Amino acid sequence: EGTMQDDVPLVVTRCLDYAAKYHGSTEVVSRTVEGPIVRTNYKEVHSRAQAFANALLSMDFRKGDRVATMAWNTHRHLECWYAIMGIGAVCHTLNPRLFHADLEYIINDAQDCIILADISFAKSLEELAPKLPSVRRYIFLTDEGHMPKAPSLRAQCYETVVADWLPRSKGFSWPELDERQGCGLCYTSGTTGRPKGVMYTHRSNVLHAMASATPDGLGGGTSDTMLAVVPMFHANSWGIAFSAPMVGMRLVLPAAALDGRSVYELMAAEEVTVTAGVPTVWLALQAHMEADPARRLERMRVLVIGGSAMPRKLLDFFGDRHGIDVRQMWGMTETSPMGTFGTPVHSGGVEPGPEERAAQRLTQGRPHFLSDLRIVDESGRELPWDGKAFGNLHIRGPVVLQSYFKAGRPAVDADRWFDTGDVATMSPRGFMQITDRAKDVIKSGGEWISSIEIENAAVGHPQVGEAAVIAVPHPKWTERPLLVVVPKPGQNPSKEDILGYLAGKVAKWWVPDDVVFLKEIPHTATGKIYKLALRKQLGGYDFG
Ligand code: ADP
Repeated sequence: EGTMQDDVPLVVTRCLDYAAKYHGSTEVVSRTVEGPIVRTNYKEVHSRAQAFANALLSMDFRKGDRVATMAWNTHRHLECWYAIMGIGAVCHTLNPRLFHADLEYIINDAQDCIILADISFAKSLEELAPKLPSVRRYIFLTDEGHMPKAPSLRAQCYETVVADWLPRSKGFSWPELDERQGCGLCYTSGTTGRPKGVMYTHRSNVLHAMASATPDGLGGGTSDTMLAVVPMFHANSWGIAFSAPMVGMRLVLPAAALDGRSVYELMAAEEVTVTAGVPTVWLALQAHMEADPARRLERMRVLVIGGSAMPRKLLDFFGDRHGIDVRQMWGMTETSPMGTFGTPVHSGGVEPGPEERAAQRLTQGRPHFLSDLRIVDESGRELPWDGKAFGNLHIRGPVVLQSYFKAGRPAVDADRWFDTGDVATMSPRGFMQITDRAKDVIKSGGEWISSIEIENAAVGHPQVGEAAVIAVPHPKWTERPLLVVVPKPGQNPSKEDILGYLAGKVAKWWVPDDVVFLKEIPHTATGKIYKLALRKQLGGYDFG
């Protein structure tokens, strides 16, 4: 039979090999943790990744061994990803914002043998190291001049290792790997129990990068510049570490500087056209830009917002005021992570009007061709796609988790449906709208109330900085919504003012029964509102 070369494995190193060969001079611009901006390109990133891969191979590895990174988005971190995955090891990204107890659990569960870290984490690692028996070696992603004082780690210096191996690595070729082999490990945040490991394979990463790079997804190409705002430790970097080189897109990496001003300055100076990150970062960018109307992002084309629901004011500001194509993305660690994109769709060749387009963008979006969705009720019966019925959201596809790391049993049902833990509606055209996480749902008088919708309406109030809605037990209605508000600095809104503002924006019976003002709302390590902690904090609350 004459067929195709389908025994060529889909391994992630193809992305960087391709970029080095066909887009070698395309820039990779990186802020560093030490301060200065480094300008390199795909060819150099590729040769340094290969040099480091060679160095790793000399460090006594077995296939599948885990090498952890605790680092911000920089060119060095990118090189490490490819070096680790390219030799058949597994790159385990650690979220440095996690509590030490969680880091200890995760590193021991993964049995990491090396930790590659930014210098800013030296102190943390010195404290943790005595509790990490599997870790044989620490390497700081810096040069000799910036090596931190952390004598107990006996750490090596990344730049020295790379310089040592670079001349010896000409003609290096990656070892042959199986595309079904694990290459990346990322733990869920553990807000609902112990963190669980999700192991991406070469194949799932390559396929996910291809799906997310399509025009209605990230949609960038060779004429674009991507600012990778989402940290590489947050859910597989949303695939950007693979999709940017895969399409030959110029790449800008912000290191730890994710405040509004730093992000704005980098975007403006580097003429960024495409970017992706969580709402918190874009709210900070908006505040910075609003403070001076001269601040504009003329080159920005596509802004992808995901990880939490997109507040309407981001669409109004970046979309309407600045003419940027704002796209909401939904996904989770277990789905590589991108599962849907909120890009408006034409109806039978007809472009939707502005209202319809905005409504479509405010949903979490439609699946790409490697993700398949359904909603089901409590008994597992599939619910209609009428935009009204709420149900448990299930997903399946080649970029979706089959079983958790070391779990020994599938995390999906016999038809491979994975229960996301989200509650959603589906519109007749396949636009999915998250109403809540199942554990945060508010059930009032037998009906569900969407906390997300109320929160999004509340943050539209000019004096509200942040808002969260939680369920509080109620003698008559079982549960009622309570609105928690963090006012903007210097503002002092009243309860009546806020509830009045919500009237007409959400269903009448959804309007919260009370408002509690706090200085701060607890957040998870990925910057999401931590409702479990908030419910505990307000545990004594009584509508009285
Ligand atoms: P965690 O936040 O627990 O570490 P993930 O980063 O994998 O885990 O988060 C996945 C969850 O984030 C989803 O199940 C969903 O609840 C929420 N989420 C992601 N994107 C969106 C979005 N666009 N709108 C609303 N919720 C979202």
